[in-house]
This record gives sequence, structure tokens and C-alpha cells, in this order.
Amino acid sequence: MTKKSTTEKTYQGIGVSPGVARGRIFVYSVAEEVVPDYEINAEDTAKEIARFEQALIKTREQLHDLQQRIASGTGSAAPSGIIDVHLSLTEDPALIDQVTNRINEEKHNVEYIFHDVSRRYIKTLSELPDEFFRERGADVQDVCRRILRNLLGHEHRELANLAPDTIVIAYDLAPTDTTALDRQHVIGFATDVGSHTSHTAIMARSMSLPAVVGLRDLSKHVHDGQLAILDGYSGTLIVEPSEQTLFVYGQLEVKRHSVEERLSQLRDLPAETLDNHRIAVAGNIELPDDIAGLKRVGAEGVGLFRTEFLYLKRDSFPTEQEQYDAYARVAREMKPHPVIIRTLDIGGDKFRSEDGEPAEINPFLGFRGIRFCLGSPQIFETQLRAILRASAEGNVLIMYPMISGVGEVIQANEFLEQVKADLRKEGVVFDENIQVGAMIEVPSAALTAEMIAQEVDFFSIGSNDLIQYTMAIDRVNEKVANLYEPTNPAILRLIRNTVESAHNNNIWVGVCGEMAGDPLYVPLLLGMGVDELSVGAASLPRVKEVTRRLTYKEAQDLAAASLHATNGRDVLAMLNALLERIDPDLMG
Ligand code: PEP
Ligand code: MG
Repeated sequence: MTKKSTTEKTYQGIGVSPGVARGRIFVYSVAEEVVPDYEINAEDTAKEIARFEQALIKTREQLHDLQQRIASGTGSAAPSGIIDVHLSLTEDPALIDQVTNRINEEKHNVEYIFHDVSRRYIKTLSELPDEFFRERGADVQDVCRRILRNLLGHEHRELANLAPDTIVIAYDLAPTDTTALDRQHVIGFATDVGSHTSHTAIMARSMSLPAVVGLRDLSKHVHDGQLAILDGYSGTLIVEPSEQTLFVYGQLEVKRHSVEERLSQLRDLPAETLDNHRIAVAGNIELPDDIAGLKRVGAEGVGLFRTEFLYLKRDSFPTEQEQYDAYARVAREMKPHPVIIRTLDIGGDKFRSEDGEPAEINPFLGFRGIRFCLGSPQIFETQLRAILRASAEGNVLIMYPMISGVGEVIQANEFLEQVKADLRKEGVVFDENIQVGAMIEVPSAALTAEMIAQEVDFFSIGSNDLIQYTMAIDRVNEKVANLYEPTNPAILRLIRNTVESAHNNNIWVGVCGEMAGDPLYVPLLLGMGVDELSVGAASLPRVKEVTRRLTYKEAQDLAAASLHATNGRDVLAMLNALLERIDPDLMG
């Protein structure tokens, strides 16, 4: 269905970030360009070279435009220094001379020659041992794609440059795409694939943007400019809504707005039960810019800084100084609140190889998280140095991801001690009492939490991965999303064991997976004795609200009853009944 349709059509997916957006559709496709390949006559070479020059001029104009928008704060979060590098590449004599010489010699069309020259250029750069040149490889790739599209006369479909009130529709939005989104103009997004805990969903919640995922082949059936309503609560996308639907949604929006308004009053109030049991409610961030959203909802710190997002959209790893700048900024802005910086958790669905394909056959079971860090000492050292230096600027904590047993913690801590010793020798200041924690997200870690607790200052339960690995359910696959069951007896036992092990060893325990941000599960986690919940900005007010509407005793009784249940459905029914009673407006 590619023809323009004016009849209303509803698509059902999974609502992963609350809110309703009404706007125009932009279909984002990352399909590779098809590069034509044909011979030309000798007299046409000048024409081809002129086309190349025109494409370069157009590219420069686009980059200048992008630079201006970034400077005026209306563009994406991309640092404008990158644009300078891209601009200089459009004037690179090595690249230009090679293309023009080869057109003259080989008598081939410019797209074909340019594509071939740029491909070789990128390959050579990416293979060089020097980090500086490898970094340039990513820039060359970006700018070459832009030049090629200009040569082909294709509109550059750029997520950083969109019309106001745009709903982005895509097959998938890789973390690299979501970081490039034009935050000013995008009001929501919807993808064909994904689930509640895929990173697209997590990113949407951090950005407080309504989002729906798992819409199957939606991106093939809609087209640019169509009017749509995106409902992140119910998981629906209504394309070309009728007058009547617009009216009904108008009413609904008024009601939801009043709920949001009510929740916003909780900003400066603690997450404290009716019988005065208090827990901390912190926020999850992917990029330093997410801090603004957390502050708006009154987060009591950052419970999870997913640092891997600093490493995306590039081929090389960020330098110590770049990382320090990001971490120190967050530490300063959140001070005196704590900021838990998680060391690199590259792998799974968070890092893809150059061609967009996962680099491993089974990336979720592969070289991920702490395994990658311990196996890449240079990268790990650079990050730990940056985090330690930033600890002098605020209340910083370190957390290791994907721990599967105490051995990895001991090894990581030894490494950390070495890095601290080096900094001391260099006279660099850092927080000597910096707390170190382990994520509990691999079942083997949850089962041996008693041993791990002796080596760390805190735990944070990563329910997204804990459920995925315990239940053997790919967290990003919409086909098995219905089997993803936080209330399963196995999950409840792993959480209980983790909390008890932490408290037996006098350390605190938080939950930073998506389970923590769902109002339905908050009473359960609270009752299990969790000390902190860390959630996306969009979920935070709901978490506070639930906590403030019940007693700790009630939550403890519920947790105890849940542990007696023989299946997840019964637990879910209890949780639904409780939420219905304490605040039905929060029901999904
Ligand atoms: C988790 O697994 O629950 C978690 C918080 O980590 P991530 O979602 O980044 O894998
Ligand atoms: Mg995880």
C-alpha cells in the first residue's frame, strides 16, 4: 500500500513510552544506496566532473546549515566539531584528485568511481593502528554517504533535520539513530521491531518521547506526510485519523494531561510509603543531555549512566578527555546526588559492526559487558581513569555490567586499584572512597550474590537481562515479547536472593532494569526490600506516586504472597488488583 490513503487505519504494537503524539509521519529508511555503474564517452568526462563538484558544493551547504542549527540549539546533539571535520573532508585534495583522475582515465560514471574511491579510503583508514586515523574513517564514511546521495539526487533522509511535529517511523532505530534524533521536532517514534526492553524503548523513555514498537511491517505501509496519532500508552498508531477519532483522542488527552499534571506535583516529594519507609528514586540516562529531563521530574541521582551511548555513532572509542568531560558534567549537574557510572556494556543490541549487522552470531551471549572490558584493558583503563577523575567533581560511583560471578568482580577491582595507583603517582585527584557496585543481571550472579556482595559496595538488579537470560527470551524480539514475564517464580526467587544477600552483607541494592519503572511492579520490588529504583525520566513520577500510596507492610505482605505463587499470572493478578485500588489512572 504505497498510494496515499485517506481512510483511517489502526496499527497495534507495544506501547513502550507513555504519551500521545499527533503529527506528520517521516519514514526513516537506512537502506543502502544502489550505485549505478555505466561507461561514459570521452567527451562526457568534464560533465561528470562538474556533477561531482556540484555534489560537493551541495554537501558543504548542507553541512553549514547543520552547523548553524547546532549552534542555535535547534539541531541534534551532535558536537559541531564533527561538522568541521566533515567540511574539511569535502575539500580533501587526495579524495577529489583521485575521483577526477579516475573519471578521466576509466571513463566511468562519477557515482561508481566516487563510491569505489571512498570505500577504499575508508577501509585503509579503518585498518590503521593509530586511533586518530581510525576515527577519521567513521567521519569519511558519513560524509561520503552524504556526497553520494547528493550525486544520486536522493534527498538526504536525516534524523537530525526534520519538520516540526514529526513522528518518525522506521523498521528499527539503532541507538546510533536515536542519539541523532532532532529532539526539537520529533514528537514520537514507532518501529516495526523491538520490545519493552529493547534499547529503542529505553531511549524513548529517557527522552520522554511517546513510542510504540513491534509494529511488524508498518514502515512499508505508511508514507511521509501522513497525519497520525501515536499512542504510547496503548501501543497504537492511527494513520489518517477520522474527525471522530481526533475528537475522542482530544478528550483522552485532556484526561491524561490532568493525570500528568497531578503527577508533576510530586517532583520535590520523596518516594516514601504511608508508614514512612523511604526508598531512593533515581534516573537512568544514556547521554549527558538526559539530565535535564531527570531534573524536571525530581530524580534523586543517576542510578544508571549507560556509557556505551558515548561510544556509538563512531568507529573508535572516545578519548579519556572526552569521557571525562561527559562524566564530570553529569557529576557536577547532579551534585550532591549520586551518579552511578556503569562501565562499558557494549555488545547485545547496543553495538553493531560497520555494516549494521551484529558482529557476533549470538551477541547477547558473546563478548559483552565486563567480558569485553576485561578483554580490552586499554579501553577499560581509559574509561576507569575518566570516571575516577570525574569523581573529584561530584558524588560518583562505579558499576560493572554483566557480572556472572565473583571472579570477574575481583579481577575488575584489581584492575581498578592499579588505575587508582597510577593516578596517585601522577598526582591526579579522585574520590578515594568511591563506591563500586555490580549489576546483577546474569542468573549465575543472582545465585551467587552472597559471594559477590563481599567484594562490592552495592548491587543493582538489571531486570531486562536477568529476565532474558533466566527465561531464554530475546529481549528485543517482538515475537516472544509476550513470554517476557517479570513475575515468573524464577525471577522472583532470583531477586529475593539478591536482596537478601545484599542486606546480609550490609550493602544496599537497587533495581535499574525496566521493571523498576513500571508502576505495576513497584509494590513488589518495594516489598522485597529493594533500597533504590532507577528508571527513565518518563516513568519516574509514576514510581513515586505508587510508593506514596501504600504502606510498606502492605508491600511486604504482597511480596511474601507472590513468593508462594506457582505461576506469574497469579502474581500479575495481585499486582493489577493493587494498582487498580491505589491509583487506577496508572493502569496501562
Ligand atoms: C538491564 O539489563 O536491566 C539493564 C539495566 O541494563 P541494559 O538494559 O543496559 O542491558
Ligand atoms: Mg543489562
